[in-house]
Amino acid sequence: NWDKVPLAPPDSIFQLTAAYKADTFPQKINLGVGAYRDDDGKPWVLPVVKKATDRLFSDPNLDHEYLPITGLPEFVSAAAKLILGADAPAIREGRVVSVQTISGTGANHLGALFLSRYYQFNGERQVFLSDPTWVNHFAIFRNVGIEPRTYAYYDPQTIGLDFAGFVRALERAPSRSVFLLHACAHNPTGVDPTEEQWAQLAEVVQRKGHYAFFDSAYQGFGSGDLERDARAVRYFAGRGVPMVVCQSFAKNAGLYGERVGALHLISATREKAERVRSQMSVLQRSEISNPPGYGARVMALIMNDAGLFGEWKRDIETMAGRIIEMRKELYRLLTEELKTPGDWQHIVQQIGMFSFTGLNTEQSKALVEKAHVYMTSNGRISMAGLNSKNIKYFAASLDAAVRG
Ligand code: PMP
Repeated sequence: NWDKVPLAPPDSIFQLTAAYKADTFPQKINLGVGAYRDDDGKPWVLPVVKKATDRLFSDPNLDHEYLPITGLPEFVSAAAKLILGADAPAIREGRVVSVQTISGTGANHLGALFLSRYYQFNGERQVFLSDPTWVNHFAIFRNVGIEPRTYAYYDPQTIGLDFAGFVRALERAPSRSVFLLHACAHNPTGVDPTEEQWAQLAEVVQRKGHYAFFDSAYQGFGSGDLERDARAVRYFAGRGVPMVVCQSFAKNAGLYGERVGALHLISATREKAERVRSQMSVLQRSEISNPPGYGARVMALIMNDAGLFGEWKRDIETMAGRIIEMRKELYRLLTEELKTPGDWQHIVQQIGMFSFTGLNTEQSKALVEKAHVYMTSNGRISMAGLNSKNIKYFAASLDAAVRG
């Protein structure tokens, strides 16, 4: 048995974290994994999550029964409103099917699985992913027999969006193709289309009859504002583009390990939505039977209570605000203090958890090997790993790597 099982390489991000942990250098920095850290470099339990957890566990009626197959009703309905808008016509008209999933990864998987079973592909069973994208997207779609292709997204020359290339890819793809779109705070580049660009993209998507597969893993992390970061998704939904949204609460609620997420599929009619719901339940049942309770209960409390919801928004502002401060400070150090060769505007223009520094593979590797700054070889850094204590060391190390 298992003679033919090839040895797979370890996951590069988690390998990076392991190497970081094993490193004894005092000034080491981990900028690999996309998890928020406070100014002391520590994981942050959101105060609102602590409060909701206390409330949850002091409830004498709390039990540990199974949740319904599609999830905790008060969680999924609040989650749908959070991304689509409290007054979204699709919700009011009963056209949204919302299913609780194993965080954003599970939402991507269930969405991909549903498409693999029921989407009427025009020719090849393929999905178009941004180049680059979250690497797991490739495996998730391949696992269900949908072949990933890429569309132009990032322009290394400008360290910005290749908008013309993106539009060209939409135009050239066969009609009714599936396009995966990052709802906000694109991973790994931190480069998002502007509002006007989103409007133009939506026009092409709609004219070509494409299917929008939105991945929303960072709502709130882009601008610090949950509503603002949902604009692209709401705009597409408002135009009636056929779509699905994968939603994660890992980052914006700091509930990484609790695996809280949802999948929202919008149908053209209520009647279609009912059929979709029935088949989603069948798929979910065979995969996980029932989603986990704890994180969903915490988020349901937060999203359905005006006071807690307000506190959550402030906690999100704290996280997004600290990241924006780090961007400004890094930019200042590179351009004013160190006069590092190059244009560093992109550091302050990019949004969300990540920044594409523009460093090449060699420079990125030099940072890991010489400076003990752990980052992926594509030049991506997690801004959340920087803080007031380590940013000077990081800027100096970056400067040294650029000067070679
Ligand atoms: N999509 C994107 C673009 C992501 O960056 C991530 C997290 N790295 C996810 C989905 C899923 O994360 P999780 O399963 O932890 O919610």
